[in-house]
Amino acid sequence: MRSLIIVLGDQLDLDAAAFDGFDPAQDLAWMAEVAEESTHVWSGQPRIALFLAAMRHFAEALRAAGRPLQYTRLEDPGNRGSLAAELAAAIGQHRPQRLVMTAPGDWRVLQALRGVADAAGLPLDVREDRHFFATVRDFAAHAKGRRQLRLEYWYRELRRRHAVLMDGDEPAGGQWNFDADNREAFGPQGPPPHPPPAGFAPDAITRDVITLVRSRFAGHPGRLDDFDWPVTRTQALQALDHFITGGLPHFGRWQDALWPREPWLFHSRLSAAMNLKLLHPREVVQAAEAAYRAGAAPLASVEGFVRQTLGWREYVRGIYWTRMPAYGGLNALDAQQDLPAWYWTGATDMACLHDTLQQTLRFGYAHHIQRLMVTGLYALLLGVQPQQVHAWYLAVYVDAVEWVELPNTLGMSQFADGGVMASKPYIASGKYIERMSGGSLCKACRYDPAARIGATACPFTTLYWSFLMRHEAVLARNPRTVMLVRNLARLGNAERAAIGARAEAVRRGEVGVA
Ligand SMILES: Cc1cc2nc3c(=O)[nH]c(=O)nc-3n(C[C@H](O)[C@H](O)[C@H](O)COP(=O)(O)OP(=O)(O)OC[C@H]3O[C@@H](n4cnc5c(N)ncnc54)[C@H](O)[C@@H]3O)c2cc1C
Ligand code: SF4
Repeated sequence: MRSLIIVLGDQLDLDAAAFDGFDPAQDLAWMAEVAEESTHVWSGQPRIALFLAAMRHFAEALRAAGRPLQYTRLEDPGNRGSLAAELAAAIGQHRPQRLVMTAPGDWRVLQALRGVADAAGLPLDVREDRHFFATVRDFAAHAKGRRQLRLEYWYRELRRRHAVLMDGDEPAGGQWNFDADNREAFGPQGPPPHPPPAGFAPDAITRDVITLVRSRFAGHPGRLDDFDWPVTRTQALQALDHFITGGLPHFGRWQDALWPREPWLFHSRLSAAMNLKLLHPREVVQAAEAAYRAGAAPLASVEGFVRQTLGWREYVRGIYWTRMPAYGGLNALDAQQDLPAWYWTGATDMACLHDTLQQTLRFGYAHHIQRLMVTGLYALLLGVQPQQVHAWYLAVYVDAVEWVELPNTLGMSQFADGGVMASKPYIASGKYIERMSGGSLCKACRYDPAARIGATACPFTTLYWSFLMRHEAVLARNPRTVMLVRNLARLGNAERAAIGARAEAVRRGEVGVA
């Protein structure tokens, strides 16, 4: 055999670089379902099911395309349980001259597979992942010599280079950024009527996977009763169409809004399909721009969406691959608290966290503001060790792959990189959640977002002030946060002590647990 083509669970694209020059007479595609990928973090059932269902559908697509494939199922007798062990066995069986793969999305996996190739004395040809607008080398060149990295500059560079939302040399509408238009909350009546997102009833392959996951990973978090994620390229394209006509026109305006029992609002739900490579971000961005050019969606919405998909997505990937492995161990604020156990069950009496955690467990999904300003904010204010927060995010969301999850968690959400990814910690009190949910979440809560001390003080608010006190020196050095610590001067010693005492009670788990 000439080449063994390694295909990982997030590389489900018939046109991936690993298949360039594929010759069915000499080459063999190789895929393996292994327990380690679901247990190295305590993966949620929706995430495990999505990966396995999409892999099994992709195996069908490979066979239909006439590409020979060796596929190991999780339940196959003798499954060795790890990618490395399964690959070593496949090498022993087929004796290929070389191994080929598209660059993986996880540093740990790349090291493991390199180790197998080295042990077998085989070359491992790691090819560019074409599912991105930019290469890691492009990002490294952009970052070189800059004292600070900022999304905005990278985003503009990519828009220019790929002629996205450009009118000649100028940004469409004469403005790069419509952030100011994209921060609205809903009024007291809540979100306007909106169509449900595109859902896909599980077919026989997915139903088998659901049965398998329920029995094999019974103790893992999350549920599968509502599993309806796209698991094939055809379904992913349908989900894209559905979003462009349904959600996109309102996406920007309410991008940061929260509302109870509204998991999707106007978000696309496309991250998992893009991360598994069922959809190319280029086709997603092109579809959004086409809607704007056709007058079907306002520029502020389309720019907001493009900023996420072209901007943030490529930015975090660049940070991950240029900074690993050291990045994964960062803890700039020296946060050492354990993650509360109720993150895995949703058993908290804080209405905003309860709502976000319940939908996370039910669907494997929360939208960005829920991840950043509810679950992420609480962990940051509490002082949870960032690696524990990372393990949780990597486990519970269906779209979680380390290249995108880790910088978002460690960098954007926990400020554990000390400001590489974001220019300041994303901190706020319960008043932010009250405002962005039009009051709806706090109204249904036993706590008061305006109170920082007392029996009904909102834990976010108490912890916010405690955070300012604990990190006063760091925050005072940052021009973007210096104003926040100035507010501390208004607190007397007695109030400071009361905030500290209540924050300690929250940290000990005496507050917030249902
Ligand atoms: C702590 C934390 C952890 C996160 N973990 C992940 C993760 O594991 N996987 C993941 O894909 N995204 C992650 N994100 C980013 C973002 O929250 C999700 O991409 C988004 O919520 C997915 O839902 P959607 O497809 O409906 O997105 P939409 O709101 O419709 O946004 C459109 C697309 O933009 C991209 N995008 C938006 N924000 C980001 C971002 N900050 N970084 C990268 N891409 C972005 C996604 O591909 C998304 O599909 C995380 C954010 C935070 C704060
Ligand atoms: S009062 Fe505090 S804990 Fe309750 S919903 Fe509002 S922000 Fe969340």
